[in-house]
Amino acid sequence: MDAKQKGNAKQKGNEQTYQMNKKHPYGNRLWWRKRLPWFLIDLGFANKGKDCESENAKHSWYRIDNNLSGCYYCNSIVKGQKWKS
Ligand SMILES: [Zn+2]
Repeated sequence: MDAKQKGNAKQKGNEQTYQMNKKHPYGNRLWWRKRLPWFLIDLGFANKGKDCESENAKHSWYRIDNNLSGCYYCNSIVKGQKWKS
């Protein structure tokens, strides 16, 4: 097998791999569902509003800015860098 043939064989192999990994028609949907909060909405969790602490749950803080932390689960916003801890 000369170098050119080798190259062709390799290319064919890549093509097959590509076919096998081709996106599932619902692949994008799954991708979004995994990453966006609306999958929580679908499951009935999502509506923000209740305070986690009133449900005996912990807040899960994200950074709003250097002085404010917000909770993913409820509408709580507090001063301080809660997201740091
Ligand atoms: Zn909360």
